[in-house]
Amino acid sequence: MNKENRRRFLFRLSAIISAKMLLSSARRKPALRYDVLVIGAGSAGMPCAIGAAERGLRVLVVEKDSKIGGTLNITAGQMSAAGTRLQRSKGITDSPEEHFKEVMRLSNGTADPAIVKLAVTEAPRLIDWLESVGYPMADEAPAVVYNHPAYSRARTYWGKTDYNPAKPGEDAGKSLLKTLLPLWEKHLQSGHIVLLTETTLSRLIVQASKVSGAVVQHKNGRTEKVFARNTVLATGGYAANPTFFRQVTPNVKRLISSARISSQGEGIQAAMEIGAAFRNAEKHGFTIGGIELQPQSGRADFWTAWARISSPATRPPREVYVNANGQRFMAEDEPEVDRREKAIAAQPDQKCWLIFDETALTAGASLVLPWSVEKIREEAEKGQCLWKADTISELAHKTGLPENALLNSIAQYNEAVQKGNDELFGRKNLQLPVQQAPFYALLTYGFCLVSFGGLHTNGVLQVLNKAGKPIEGLYAVGEILGAGATTGNVFCGGMLLTPAVALGRWLGEKLT
Ligand SMILES: Cc1cc2nc3c(=O)[nH]c(=O)nc-3n(C[C@H](O)[C@H](O)[C@H](O)COP(=O)(O)OP(=O)(O)OC[C@H]3O[C@@H](n4cnc5c(N)ncnc54)[C@H](O)[C@@H]3O)c2cc1C
Repeated sequence: MNKENRRRFLFRLSAIISAKMLLSSARRKPALRYDVLVIGAGSAGMPCAIGAAERGLRVLVVEKDSKIGGTLNITAGQMSAAGTRLQRSKGITDSPEEHFKEVMRLSNGTADPAIVKLAVTEAPRLIDWLESVGYPMADEAPAVVYNHPAYSRARTYWGKTDYNPAKPGEDAGKSLLKTLLPLWEKHLQSGHIVLLTETTLSRLIVQASKVSGAVVQHKNGRTEKVFARNTVLATGGYAANPTFFRQVTPNVKRLISSARISSQGEGIQAAMEIGAAFRNAEKHGFTIGGIELQPQSGRADFWTAWARISSPATRPPREVYVNANGQRFMAEDEPEVDRREKAIAAQPDQKCWLIFDETALTAGASLVLPWSVEKIREEAEKGQCLWKADTISELAHKTGLPENALLNSIAQYNEAVQKGNDELFGRKNLQLPVQQAPFYALLTYGFCLVSFGGLHTNGVLQVLNKAGKPIEGLYAVGEILGAGATTGNVFCGGMLLTPAVALGRWLGEKLT
Protein backbone atom coordinates (compact mmCIF):
# COMPACT_ATOMS: atom_id res chain seq x y z
CA MET A 1 0.00 0.00 0.00
CA ASN A 2 1.53 3.32 -1.02
CA LYS A 3 1.56 6.36 1.28
CA GLU A 4 -1.57 7.94 -0.23
CA ASN A 5 -3.57 4.70 -0.09
CA ARG A 6 -2.52 4.11 3.49
CA ARG A 7 -3.63 7.66 4.38
CA ARG A 8 -7.03 7.05 2.70
CA PHE A 9 -7.38 3.65 4.40
CA LEU A 10 -6.64 5.11 7.84
CA PHE A 11 -9.03 8.03 7.19
CA ARG A 12 -11.86 5.62 6.24
CA LEU A 13 -11.11 3.38 9.21
CA SER A 14 -11.25 6.27 11.66
CA ALA A 15 -14.53 7.50 10.05
CA ILE A 16 -16.07 4.03 10.46
CA ILE A 17 -14.91 3.81 14.08
CA SER A 18 -16.29 7.29 14.93
CA ALA A 19 -19.63 6.49 13.25
CA LYS A 20 -19.86 3.22 15.20
CA MET A 21 -19.02 5.03 18.43
CA LEU A 22 -21.61 7.68 17.69
CA LEU A 23 -24.21 5.03 16.92
CA SER A 24 -23.50 3.02 20.03
CA SER A 25 -23.49 6.13 22.24
CA ALA A 26 -26.82 7.15 20.65
CA ARG A 27 -28.11 3.69 21.48
CA ARG A 28 -26.88 3.91 25.03
CA LYS A 29 -27.99 7.49 25.62
CA PRO A 30 -31.76 7.63 25.62
CA ALA A 31 -33.55 10.34 23.73
CA LEU A 32 -35.02 12.69 26.29
CA ARG A 33 -38.65 12.64 25.16
CA TYR A 34 -40.81 9.53 25.56
CA ASP A 35 -44.43 8.51 25.37
CA VAL A 36 -44.31 7.07 28.87
CA LEU A 37 -41.91 7.56 31.76
CA VAL A 38 -42.20 4.80 34.36
CA ILE A 39 -40.41 5.41 37.65
CA GLY A 40 -39.68 2.08 39.34
CA ALA A 41 -39.12 -1.30 37.63
CA GLY A 42 -40.97 -3.42 40.18
CA SER A 43 -44.22 -5.39 40.43
CA ALA A 44 -46.29 -2.58 38.91
CA GLY A 45 -43.69 -0.75 36.83
CA MET A 46 -42.56 -3.75 34.80
CA PRO A 47 -46.01 -4.81 33.55
CA CYS A 48 -46.88 -1.16 32.95
CA ALA A 49 -43.84 -0.69 30.73
CA ILE A 50 -44.50 -4.02 28.97
CA GLY A 51 -48.17 -3.10 28.39
CA ALA A 52 -47.21 0.25 26.83
CA ALA A 53 -44.33 -1.21 24.79
CA GLU A 54 -46.63 -3.90 23.40
CA ARG A 55 -48.68 -1.13 21.79
CA GLY A 56 -45.59 0.37 20.21
CA LEU A 57 -45.13 3.23 22.68
CA ARG A 58 -41.63 4.36 23.62
CA VAL A 59 -41.11 3.88 27.32
CA LEU A 60 -38.31 5.10 29.54
CA VAL A 61 -38.00 3.19 32.82
CA VAL A 62 -36.00 4.75 35.63
CA GLU A 63 -34.96 2.36 38.41
CA LYS A 64 -32.85 3.32 41.39
CA ASP A 65 -31.63 -0.19 42.10
CA SER A 66 -28.96 -2.02 40.10
CA LYS A 67 -31.41 -4.85 39.45
CA ILE A 68 -35.00 -4.80 38.34
CA GLY A 69 -38.04 -6.49 39.91
CA GLY A 70 -38.41 -4.54 43.15
CA THR A 71 -40.52 -6.47 45.64
CA LEU A 72 -41.04 -9.22 43.03
CA ASN A 73 -37.64 -10.42 44.24
CA ILE A 74 -38.98 -11.20 47.72
CA THR A 75 -42.79 -11.36 47.61
CA ALA A 76 -44.66 -14.49 48.72
CA GLY A 77 -46.39 -14.21 45.36
CA GLN A 78 -50.00 -14.81 46.39
CA MET A 79 -52.53 -13.28 44.01
CA SER A 80 -56.30 -13.29 44.18
CA ALA A 81 -58.69 -13.33 41.24
CA ALA A 82 -62.25 -14.44 40.56
CA GLY A 83 -63.77 -15.64 37.31
CA THR A 84 -60.56 -17.10 35.88
CA ARG A 85 -60.24 -19.82 33.27
CA LEU A 86 -58.52 -21.98 35.87
CA GLN A 87 -61.40 -21.65 38.33
CA ARG A 88 -63.87 -22.62 35.58
CA SER A 89 -61.76 -25.63 34.62
CA LYS A 90 -61.89 -26.78 38.24
CA GLY A 91 -65.64 -26.21 38.52
CA ILE A 92 -65.36 -23.19 40.87
CA THR A 93 -68.15 -20.69 40.36
CA ASP A 94 -66.90 -17.19 41.06
CA SER A 95 -66.94 -13.69 39.61
CA PRO A 96 -65.24 -10.30 39.97
CA GLU A 97 -68.51 -9.02 41.47
CA GLU A 98 -68.29 -11.63 44.27
CA HIS A 99 -64.63 -10.81 44.80
CA PHE A 100 -65.47 -7.10 45.02
CA LYS A 101 -68.26 -7.70 47.53
CA GLU A 102 -65.99 -9.87 49.64
CA VAL A 103 -63.06 -7.42 49.72
CA MET A 104 -65.44 -4.64 50.72
CA ARG A 105 -67.05 -6.87 53.39
CA LEU A 106 -63.76 -8.15 54.82
CA SER A 107 -62.32 -4.64 54.86
CA ASN A 108 -65.46 -3.34 56.61
CA GLY A 109 -66.03 -0.99 53.70
CA THR A 110 -62.72 0.80 54.30
CA ALA A 111 -61.02 0.02 50.95
CA ASP A 112 -61.50 2.39 48.01
CA PRO A 113 -64.39 0.93 45.98
CA ALA A 114 -63.25 2.46 42.68
CA ILE A 115 -59.72 1.03 42.97
CA VAL A 116 -60.95 -2.34 44.26
CA LYS A 117 -63.47 -2.59 41.42
CA LEU A 118 -60.81 -1.95 38.79
CA ALA A 119 -58.39 -4.37 40.50
CA VAL A 120 -60.83 -7.28 40.79
CA THR A 121 -62.05 -6.70 37.22
CA GLU A 122 -58.50 -6.84 35.88
CA ALA A 123 -57.36 -9.69 38.16
CA PRO A 124 -58.85 -12.63 36.17
CA ARG A 125 -57.51 -11.15 32.94
CA LEU A 126 -54.07 -11.05 34.59
CA ILE A 127 -54.21 -14.67 35.74
CA ASP A 128 -55.45 -15.91 32.34
CA TRP A 129 -52.72 -13.91 30.61
CA LEU A 130 -49.99 -15.09 32.99
CA GLU A 131 -50.93 -18.68 32.28
CA SER A 132 -50.81 -17.99 28.54
CA VAL A 133 -47.26 -16.60 28.82
CA GLY A 134 -45.91 -19.53 30.80
CA TYR A 135 -46.48 -18.69 34.47
CA PRO A 136 -45.72 -21.89 36.43
CA MET A 137 -49.04 -22.09 38.32
CA ALA A 138 -48.98 -24.24 41.49
CA ASP A 139 -51.05 -27.42 41.06
CA GLU A 140 -53.04 -26.65 44.24
CA ALA A 141 -54.12 -23.21 42.97
CA PRO A 142 -56.62 -21.68 43.21
CA ALA A 143 -57.18 -22.39 46.88
CA VAL A 144 -58.58 -20.88 50.05
CA VAL A 145 -55.60 -19.83 52.20
CA TYR A 146 -55.64 -18.87 55.84
CA ASN A 147 -52.78 -16.46 56.46
CA HIS A 148 -55.23 -13.58 55.90
CA PRO A 149 -58.99 -13.40 56.55
CA ALA A 150 -60.10 -16.29 54.37
CA TYR A 151 -62.14 -15.75 51.20
CA SER A 152 -65.25 -17.87 50.90
CA ARG A 153 -64.07 -19.27 47.54
CA ALA A 154 -60.87 -20.75 46.21
CA ARG A 155 -59.41 -17.66 44.54
CA THR A 156 -55.78 -17.46 45.64
CA TYR A 157 -53.03 -18.29 43.11
CA TRP A 158 -49.28 -18.69 43.39
CA GLY A 159 -46.44 -20.17 41.42
CA LYS A 160 -44.98 -23.63 41.85
CA THR A 161 -41.95 -22.34 43.74
CA ASP A 162 -43.82 -19.65 45.71
CA TYR A 163 -45.58 -19.51 49.03
CA ASN A 164 -43.76 -22.22 50.82
CA PRO A 165 -41.88 -20.40 53.53
CA ALA A 166 -41.05 -23.82 55.02
CA LYS A 167 -38.83 -24.43 52.01
CA PRO A 168 -37.91 -20.97 50.78
CA GLY A 169 -35.22 -21.94 48.28
CA GLU A 170 -33.66 -19.62 45.73
CA ASP A 171 -36.74 -19.23 43.58
CA ALA A 172 -39.26 -18.57 46.33
CA GLY A 173 -41.64 -15.84 45.29
CA LYS A 174 -39.98 -15.35 41.92
CA SER A 175 -42.48 -17.04 39.56
CA LEU A 176 -43.93 -13.71 38.51
CA LEU A 177 -40.58 -12.07 37.92
CA LYS A 178 -39.38 -15.02 35.87
CA THR A 179 -42.54 -14.92 33.77
CA LEU A 180 -42.22 -11.20 33.05
CA LEU A 181 -38.50 -11.24 32.24
CA PRO A 182 -38.62 -12.67 28.68
CA LEU A 183 -41.27 -10.09 27.69
CA TRP A 184 -39.25 -7.35 29.30
CA GLU A 185 -36.08 -8.45 27.48
CA LYS A 186 -37.96 -8.57 24.16
CA HIS A 187 -39.02 -4.93 24.49
CA LEU A 188 -35.57 -3.87 25.67
CA GLN A 189 -34.11 -5.48 22.57
CA SER A 190 -36.63 -3.79 20.27
CA GLY A 191 -35.85 -0.44 21.91
CA HIS A 192 -39.47 0.15 22.97
CA ILE A 193 -38.30 0.02 26.58
CA VAL A 194 -35.20 1.98 27.54
CA LEU A 195 -33.99 1.18 31.05
CA LEU A 196 -31.86 3.37 33.28
CA THR A 197 -30.79 1.49 36.39
CA GLU A 198 -29.05 3.04 39.39
CA THR A 199 -30.96 6.19 38.51
CA THR A 200 -33.23 7.83 41.06
CA LEU A 201 -36.20 10.11 40.78
CA SER A 202 -35.23 13.50 42.24
CA ARG A 203 -38.33 15.54 41.44
CA LEU A 204 -41.21 15.84 39.03
CA ILE A 205 -41.23 18.52 36.35
CA VAL A 206 -44.42 20.56 36.09
CA GLN A 207 -44.98 22.77 33.04
CA ALA A 208 -48.21 24.67 32.46
CA SER A 209 -49.92 22.74 35.32
CA LYS A 210 -49.03 19.43 33.73
CA VAL A 211 -46.40 16.90 34.76
CA SER A 212 -44.11 16.61 31.76
CA GLY A 213 -41.35 14.42 33.15
CA ALA A 214 -38.82 14.24 35.93
CA VAL A 215 -35.37 15.18 37.05
CA VAL A 216 -33.44 12.00 37.70
CA GLN A 217 -30.06 11.46 39.27
CA HIS A 218 -27.54 8.92 38.01
CA LYS A 219 -25.21 6.90 40.20
CA ASN A 220 -22.33 9.28 39.50
CA GLY A 221 -24.38 12.19 40.85
CA ARG A 222 -25.16 13.67 37.42
CA THR A 223 -28.75 14.87 37.10
CA GLU A 224 -30.78 14.81 33.91
CA LYS A 225 -34.21 15.95 32.80
CA VAL A 226 -36.35 13.33 31.10
CA PHE A 227 -39.64 14.19 29.43
CA ALA A 228 -42.71 12.14 28.60
CA ARG A 229 -46.38 12.66 27.76
CA ASN A 230 -47.31 10.37 30.66
CA THR A 231 -45.40 9.91 33.90
CA VAL A 232 -46.19 6.83 35.98
CA LEU A 233 -45.04 6.61 39.58
CA ALA A 234 -44.47 2.94 40.47
CA THR A 235 -41.92 3.37 43.25
CA GLY A 236 -43.70 1.18 45.82
CA GLY A 237 -44.52 1.97 49.43
CA TYR A 238 -42.62 3.42 52.38
CA ALA A 239 -42.60 0.49 54.81
CA ALA A 240 -38.78 0.44 54.93
CA ASN A 241 -38.47 4.13 55.79
CA PRO A 242 -38.82 4.59 59.58
CA THR A 243 -38.62 8.40 59.40
CA PHE A 244 -41.42 8.84 56.88
CA PHE A 245 -43.39 6.02 58.49
CA ARG A 246 -43.32 7.74 61.91
CA GLN A 247 -44.17 11.07 60.31
CA VAL A 248 -47.41 9.71 58.84
CA THR A 249 -48.17 7.10 61.54
CA PRO A 250 -47.11 8.91 64.75
CA ASN A 251 -48.91 6.43 67.03
CA VAL A 252 -46.48 3.66 66.03
CA LYS A 253 -43.25 4.34 67.87
CA ARG A 254 -40.99 1.77 66.30
CA LEU A 255 -41.10 0.30 62.81
CA ILE A 256 -40.09 -3.35 62.39
CA SER A 257 -40.12 -4.00 58.69
CA SER A 258 -39.87 -6.86 56.22
CA ALA A 259 -40.47 -4.62 53.25
CA ARG A 260 -37.83 -4.45 50.55
CA ILE A 261 -35.25 -1.87 51.53
CA SER A 262 -36.05 0.08 48.34
CA SER A 263 -39.52 0.90 49.75
CA GLN A 264 -38.63 4.39 50.90
CA GLY A 265 -41.70 6.32 49.73
CA GLU A 266 -39.69 8.59 47.43
CA GLY A 267 -42.36 8.66 44.70
CA ILE A 268 -45.00 9.58 47.27
CA GLN A 269 -42.87 12.42 48.59
CA ALA A 270 -42.05 13.72 45.09
CA ALA A 271 -45.76 13.80 44.24
CA MET A 272 -46.64 15.45 47.55
CA GLU A 273 -44.08 18.17 46.76
CA ILE A 274 -46.16 19.15 43.73
CA GLY A 275 -49.43 19.11 45.67
CA ALA A 276 -50.63 15.48 45.42
CA ALA A 277 -52.99 14.25 48.11
CA PHE A 278 -51.83 11.52 50.51
CA ARG A 279 -54.31 9.40 52.47
CA ASN A 280 -55.02 6.26 54.53
CA ALA A 281 -51.87 6.05 56.70
CA GLU A 282 -54.14 5.76 59.73
CA LYS A 283 -55.48 2.46 58.34
CA HIS A 284 -52.10 0.90 59.03
CA GLY A 285 -52.20 -2.81 59.86
CA PHE A 286 -49.53 -5.18 61.10
CA THR A 287 -48.53 -8.65 60.05
CA ILE A 288 -47.77 -10.78 63.09
CA GLY A 289 -44.93 -13.10 64.06
CA GLY A 290 -42.02 -10.87 62.97
CA ILE A 291 -38.68 -11.72 64.58
CA GLU A 292 -35.98 -9.06 64.89
CA LEU A 293 -32.98 -11.36 64.52
CA GLN A 294 -30.49 -8.52 64.97
CA PRO A 295 -31.63 -6.49 67.99
CA GLN A 296 -32.31 -2.84 67.17
CA SER A 297 -32.05 -3.46 63.41
CA GLY A 298 -35.72 -2.67 62.84
CA ARG A 299 -35.78 -5.54 60.34
CA ALA A 300 -37.66 -8.85 60.42
CA ASP A 301 -37.07 -11.22 57.54
CA PHE A 302 -40.21 -12.91 56.32
CA TRP A 303 -38.36 -15.72 54.54
CA THR A 304 -35.65 -16.67 57.04
CA ALA A 305 -37.43 -16.29 60.40
CA TRP A 306 -41.17 -15.92 60.82
CA ALA A 307 -43.13 -17.17 63.83
CA ARG A 308 -46.18 -19.09 62.72
CA ILE A 309 -48.82 -17.30 64.71
CA SER A 310 -50.91 -15.85 61.87
CA SER A 311 -53.66 -18.39 62.11
CA PRO A 312 -54.42 -21.48 64.22
CA ALA A 313 -55.71 -23.05 61.00
CA THR A 314 -52.14 -23.38 59.72
CA ARG A 315 -50.56 -24.26 63.07
CA PRO A 316 -52.51 -24.71 66.31
CA PRO A 317 -50.63 -22.72 68.99
CA ARG A 318 -48.73 -24.57 71.69
CA GLU A 319 -47.47 -21.34 73.28
CA VAL A 320 -48.78 -18.75 75.71
CA TYR A 321 -48.72 -15.17 74.43
CA VAL A 322 -47.81 -12.36 76.81
CA ASN A 323 -47.20 -8.66 76.23
CA ALA A 324 -44.27 -6.54 77.43
CA ASN A 325 -46.01 -6.34 80.84
CA GLY A 326 -45.85 -10.13 81.14
CA GLN A 327 -49.65 -10.38 80.83
CA ARG A 328 -51.75 -12.57 78.58
CA PHE A 329 -54.08 -10.54 76.36
CA MET A 330 -55.88 -12.90 73.95
CA ALA A 331 -56.99 -16.45 73.29
CA GLU A 332 -53.94 -17.79 71.51
CA ASP A 333 -56.19 -19.88 69.27
CA GLU A 334 -58.45 -16.99 68.23
CA PRO A 335 -59.48 -18.13 64.73
CA GLU A 336 -59.99 -14.72 63.05
CA VAL A 337 -56.71 -13.55 61.50
CA ASP A 338 -57.74 -9.91 61.59
CA ARG A 339 -58.66 -10.08 65.29
CA ARG A 340 -55.32 -11.71 66.04
CA GLU A 341 -53.45 -8.98 64.16
CA LYS A 342 -55.38 -6.21 65.86
CA ALA A 343 -54.96 -7.77 69.34
CA ILE A 344 -51.17 -7.80 68.92
CA ALA A 345 -51.17 -4.33 67.33
CA ALA A 346 -52.85 -3.02 70.49
CA GLN A 347 -50.01 -4.20 72.79
CA PRO A 348 -47.15 -1.93 73.89
CA ASP A 349 -44.65 -1.62 71.01
CA GLN A 350 -46.61 -4.36 69.20
CA LYS A 351 -44.56 -6.89 71.16
CA CYS A 352 -45.87 -10.40 71.63
CA TRP A 353 -43.72 -12.82 73.65
CA LEU A 354 -44.32 -16.49 72.95
CA ILE A 355 -43.70 -18.56 76.08
CA PHE A 356 -43.34 -22.33 75.81
CA ASP A 357 -41.68 -25.29 77.42
CA GLU A 358 -39.59 -28.22 76.27
CA THR A 359 -42.66 -30.39 75.60
CA ALA A 360 -44.29 -27.76 73.39
CA LEU A 361 -41.04 -27.22 71.50
CA THR A 362 -41.05 -30.74 70.08
CA ALA A 363 -44.76 -31.63 70.06
CA GLY A 364 -45.53 -30.75 66.43
CA ALA A 365 -44.86 -28.34 63.55
CA SER A 366 -42.01 -25.90 64.19
CA LEU A 367 -42.93 -22.52 65.68
CA VAL A 368 -40.61 -20.63 63.36
CA LEU A 369 -40.41 -20.98 59.61
CA PRO A 370 -38.07 -22.37 58.39
CA TRP A 371 -36.29 -23.28 61.64
CA SER A 372 -35.83 -26.82 62.93
CA VAL A 373 -36.04 -27.65 66.64
CA GLU A 374 -32.21 -27.67 66.72
CA LYS A 375 -32.09 -24.20 65.19
CA ILE A 376 -34.57 -22.95 67.82
CA ARG A 377 -32.31 -24.37 70.54
CA GLU A 378 -29.26 -22.72 68.94
CA GLU A 379 -30.98 -19.32 68.81
CA ALA A 380 -32.07 -19.74 72.44
CA GLU A 381 -28.42 -20.15 73.43
CA LYS A 382 -27.58 -16.82 71.75
CA GLY A 383 -30.29 -14.95 73.71
CA GLN A 384 -30.92 -12.22 71.13
CA CYS A 385 -34.52 -12.82 70.08
CA LEU A 386 -35.09 -16.11 71.88
CA TRP A 387 -34.20 -17.00 75.47
CA LYS A 388 -34.05 -20.22 77.49
CA ALA A 389 -34.11 -20.75 81.27
CA ASP A 390 -34.64 -23.46 83.85
CA THR A 391 -37.40 -21.59 85.65
CA ILE A 392 -40.03 -19.01 84.71
CA SER A 393 -38.43 -16.56 87.15
CA GLU A 394 -35.07 -16.93 85.46
CA LEU A 395 -36.78 -16.52 82.08
CA ALA A 396 -38.27 -13.24 83.34
CA HIS A 397 -34.81 -12.02 84.41
CA LYS A 398 -33.23 -12.94 81.11
CA THR A 399 -35.93 -11.31 78.99
CA GLY A 400 -36.63 -8.31 81.19
CA LEU A 401 -40.31 -9.29 81.51
CA PRO A 402 -41.83 -8.42 84.92
CA GLU A 403 -41.28 -11.56 87.03
CA ASN A 404 -44.47 -11.56 89.11
CA ALA A 405 -46.68 -10.82 86.14
CA LEU A 406 -45.10 -13.59 84.08
CA LEU A 407 -45.32 -16.09 86.95
CA ASN A 408 -49.00 -15.16 87.38
CA SER A 409 -49.78 -15.44 83.69
CA ILE A 410 -48.23 -18.90 83.43
CA ALA A 411 -49.85 -20.06 86.69
CA GLN A 412 -53.28 -18.84 85.50
CA TYR A 413 -52.81 -20.52 82.15
CA ASN A 414 -51.74 -23.81 83.75
CA GLU A 415 -54.79 -23.66 86.00
CA ALA A 416 -56.98 -23.14 82.92
CA VAL A 417 -55.38 -26.23 81.33
CA GLN A 418 -56.08 -28.22 84.49
CA LYS A 419 -59.71 -27.08 84.61
CA GLY A 420 -60.14 -27.39 80.85
CA ASN A 421 -61.55 -23.85 80.87
CA ASP A 422 -59.78 -20.57 80.12
CA GLU A 423 -62.13 -18.19 81.91
CA LEU A 424 -60.00 -15.14 81.15
CA PHE A 425 -59.66 -15.35 77.38
CA GLY A 426 -61.60 -18.38 76.19
CA ARG A 427 -58.73 -20.37 74.67
CA LYS A 428 -60.10 -23.72 73.53
CA ASN A 429 -56.83 -25.51 72.81
CA LEU A 430 -55.77 -26.37 76.37
CA GLN A 431 -53.79 -29.56 75.96
CA LEU A 432 -50.32 -28.51 77.07
CA PRO A 433 -49.43 -26.84 80.37
CA VAL A 434 -46.20 -24.84 80.54
CA GLN A 435 -44.33 -26.95 83.09
CA GLN A 436 -41.46 -28.90 81.58
CA ALA A 437 -38.07 -27.14 81.84
CA PRO A 438 -36.28 -25.64 80.05
CA PHE A 439 -38.66 -22.79 79.34
CA TYR A 440 -38.39 -20.56 76.28
CA ALA A 441 -39.46 -17.03 75.35
CA LEU A 442 -39.48 -15.83 71.73
CA LEU A 443 -39.93 -12.10 71.14
CA THR A 444 -42.13 -11.40 68.12
CA TYR A 445 -43.51 -8.15 66.74
CA GLY A 446 -46.39 -6.87 64.75
CA PHE A 447 -44.34 -5.89 61.70
CA CYS A 448 -44.78 -4.18 58.34
CA LEU A 449 -44.74 -6.00 55.05
CA VAL A 450 -46.43 -3.11 53.30
CA SER A 451 -47.48 0.48 53.90
CA PHE A 452 -51.11 1.51 54.07
CA GLY A 453 -50.89 5.22 53.23
CA GLY A 454 -50.55 6.27 49.62
CA LEU A 455 -51.28 8.70 46.84
CA HIS A 456 -54.92 9.46 46.25
CA THR A 457 -55.87 8.57 42.68
CA ASN A 458 -59.15 8.37 40.88
CA GLY A 459 -60.51 5.13 39.40
CA VAL A 460 -58.28 5.48 36.31
CA LEU A 461 -55.13 5.95 38.41
CA GLN A 462 -54.62 9.66 37.78
CA VAL A 463 -52.98 11.23 40.82
CA LEU A 464 -55.28 13.73 42.51
CA ASN A 465 -54.32 17.01 44.13
CA LYS A 466 -55.64 18.08 47.53
CA ALA A 467 -58.70 19.63 45.84
CA GLY A 468 -59.53 16.21 44.36
CA LYS A 469 -58.61 17.25 40.79
CA PRO A 470 -56.39 15.06 38.57
CA ILE A 471 -52.82 16.28 38.15
CA GLU A 472 -52.49 16.13 34.40
CA GLY A 473 -49.86 13.76 33.04
CA LEU A 474 -49.29 11.98 36.37
CA TYR A 475 -50.38 8.42 37.23
CA ALA A 476 -49.59 6.10 40.13
CA VAL A 477 -49.82 2.34 40.42
CA GLY A 478 -48.77 -0.36 42.90
CA GLU A 479 -48.17 -0.04 46.60
CA ILE A 480 -47.66 3.69 46.12
CA LEU A 481 -51.50 3.81 46.25
CA GLY A 482 -51.27 2.35 49.77
CA ALA A 483 -52.73 -0.87 51.06
CA GLY A 484 -55.50 1.29 52.53
CA ALA A 485 -56.86 1.80 49.00
CA THR A 486 -56.74 -1.79 47.80
CA THR A 487 -57.52 -3.69 51.00
CA GLY A 488 -58.63 -1.09 53.58
CA ASN A 489 -57.73 -1.55 57.23
CA VAL A 490 -57.62 -5.36 56.90
CA PHE A 491 -55.33 -7.58 54.83
CA CYS A 492 -57.38 -9.24 52.09
CA GLY A 493 -55.31 -11.99 50.49
CA GLY A 494 -53.49 -11.02 47.30
CA MET A 495 -54.82 -7.47 47.34
CA LEU A 496 -51.39 -5.85 47.13
CA LEU A 497 -49.56 -7.88 44.54
CA THR A 498 -52.57 -8.46 42.29
CA PRO A 499 -53.52 -4.77 41.98
CA ALA A 500 -49.85 -3.87 41.44
CA VAL A 501 -49.34 -6.27 38.54
CA ALA A 502 -52.85 -6.23 37.06
CA LEU A 503 -53.28 -2.47 37.20
CA GLY A 504 -49.70 -1.87 36.10
CA ARG A 505 -50.48 -3.84 32.98
CA TRP A 506 -53.88 -2.20 32.56
CA LEU A 507 -52.40 1.29 32.82
CA GLY A 508 -49.64 0.48 30.33
CA GLU A 509 -52.30 -0.68 27.88
CA LYS A 510 -54.42 2.43 28.34
CA LEU A 511 -51.88 5.25 28.14
CA THR A 512 -51.70 7.07 24.81
C1 LIG B 1 -42.00 -10.36 51.97
C2 LIG B 1 -43.24 -9.85 51.27
C3 LIG B 1 -44.23 -10.75 50.89
C4 LIG B 1 -45.37 -10.29 50.27
N1 LIG B 1 -46.29 -11.18 49.85
C5 LIG B 1 -47.41 -10.75 49.23
C6 LIG B 1 -48.37 -11.67 48.75
O1 LIG B 1 -48.19 -12.88 48.84
N2 LIG B 1 -49.50 -11.18 48.17
C7 LIG B 1 -49.73 -9.83 48.03
O2 LIG B 1 -50.77 -9.45 47.53
N3 LIG B 1 -48.80 -8.95 48.44
C8 LIG B 1 -47.65 -9.36 49.02
N4 LIG B 1 -46.72 -8.47 49.40
C9 LIG B 1 -46.88 -7.08 48.99
C10 LIG B 1 -46.59 -6.90 47.50
O3 LIG B 1 -45.60 -7.83 47.09
C11 LIG B 1 -46.12 -5.47 47.24
O4 LIG B 1 -47.09 -4.57 47.72
C12 LIG B 1 -45.94 -5.20 45.75
O5 LIG B 1 -45.05 -6.16 45.21
C13 LIG B 1 -45.39 -3.80 45.56
O6 LIG B 1 -45.23 -3.57 44.18
P1 LIG B 1 -44.76 -2.13 43.67
O7 LIG B 1 -44.53 -2.24 42.22
O8 LIG B 1 -45.67 -1.09 44.15
O9 LIG B 1 -43.36 -1.89 44.41
P2 LIG B 1 -41.99 -2.64 44.14
O10 LIG B 1 -42.21 -3.97 43.54
O11 LIG B 1 -41.23 -2.56 45.39
O12 LIG B 1 -41.31 -1.74 43.01
C14 LIG B 1 -40.90 -0.43 43.24
C15 LIG B 1 -39.64 -0.19 42.43
O13 LIG B 1 -39.38 1.22 42.43
C16 LIG B 1 -38.00 1.44 42.66
N5 LIG B 1 -37.85 2.77 43.24
C17 LIG B 1 -38.22 3.17 44.47
N6 LIG B 1 -37.94 4.48 44.64
C18 LIG B 1 -37.39 4.91 43.48
C19 LIG B 1 -36.90 6.18 43.03
N7 LIG B 1 -36.90 7.26 43.82
N8 LIG B 1 -36.39 6.28 41.77
C20 LIG B 1 -36.37 5.18 40.95
N9 LIG B 1 -36.82 3.97 41.33
C21 LIG B 1 -37.33 3.83 42.57
C22 LIG B 1 -37.61 0.31 43.59
O14 LIG B 1 -36.21 0.08 43.60
C23 LIG B 1 -38.42 -0.86 43.04
O15 LIG B 1 -37.71 -1.55 42.04
C24 LIG B 1 -45.55 -8.90 50.04
C25 LIG B 1 -44.58 -7.99 50.44
C26 LIG B 1 -43.42 -8.45 51.04
C27 LIG B 1 -42.36 -7.47 51.45
